[in-house]
Amino acid sequence: VGERALIRTFTAGLRPRDARLLIGPGDDAAVVRPAGSLAVTSTDTTVLGVHLPLDDPRATPAVVGHRSLGTALSDLAAMGVPAGEAYVALTVPPDWDDDDVLAAVAGLEDLARATGTTVAGGDVTAGPALVVTVTVVGWAASEDALLRRDRALAGDLVGVTGTLGGSGAGLAIVLGDVAVAEAAVDPQDADTLVERYLRPLPRLEEGTALVAAGVRCGIDLSDGVAADAVHVAAASGVVLEIDLERLPRQAGVDPVALALGTDPAELAATAGEDYELLITAPPSVAGALTGVTWIGRVLEPEAPAGPGVRLLRGGAPVVLDGFEHRAD
Ligand SMILES: [Mg+2]
Repeated sequence: VGERALIRTFTAGLRPRDARLLIGPGDDAAVVRPAGSLAVTSTDTTVLGVHLPLDDPRATPAVVGHRSLGTALSDLAAMGVPAGEAYVALTVPPDWDDDDVLAAVAGLEDLARATGTTVAGGDVTAGPALVVTVTVVGWAASEDALLRRDRALAGDLVGVTGTLGGSGAGLAIVLGDVAVAEAAVDPQDADTLVERYLRPLPRLEEGTALVAAGVRCGIDLSDGVAADAVHVAAASGVVLEIDLERLPRQAGVDPVALALGTDPAELAATAGEDYELLITAPPSVAGALTGVTWIGRVLEPEAPAGPGVRLLRGGAPVVLDGFEHRAD
């Protein structure tokens, strides 16, 4: 397939969904009217064989399309801004044909439609391996209308949206590390877990609602609560104390974790790719929020440990294997 044909196939599948797009794919560059005074931009790359298992038949082009946009949009959710434009650079591997490119665009467009994202431009090339790089832009009205990593204050509560561990449990099923029947996972739960892993949904509505409710500190959970909370602790110069037993676990996570020989709370804390939001908020703001589970609190750092994450289990400190708690 020639590259010009690839680009034609790709752009034919795209639909603009906001009036801000003055010039879309087809000219030398995209032109967009800003929807706020601040452009919030993030780039995310998906490489098949690194971010998705190479040999899994469920890692279809449609999944690749959805996942590459979804993980990029999660960073806009984590900043508390709605989705705006996406710019997609796709390197098509030798074993993909025209239909595969169409399926990838369709998967990407399904999520773009659901989230109000316009794919405003990009590039398609043939190459030795599948690589998708997605740059997303959202628009914020002001500096106050953002969720930032460096805004946690001692006295804040620590919370998470949704449920955790689902993506990690789904991956274990995809990789065949856990047999659904042997683990006694409800088949419907198993399907939901696998779907959670393959097609993560960025928490865009939650992010903007949290900003509107007065929350100013947040991050998205790409690597798991235990690891991502360290970024907040480091940026804010505080200690985040989190109780593993308070982590909300998705249905089906417990039997999968037990079949893996892992503690369910530990899986929920470390598995990653759930793309929920972790926030901190003062009690006055936290009390009015819905859809957030409170899992801990923010403390002043103490010498000599300094900023970092302190994990508890039912009130007692725990250390997870191979986990770096210190923020430096
Ligand atoms: Mg992020």
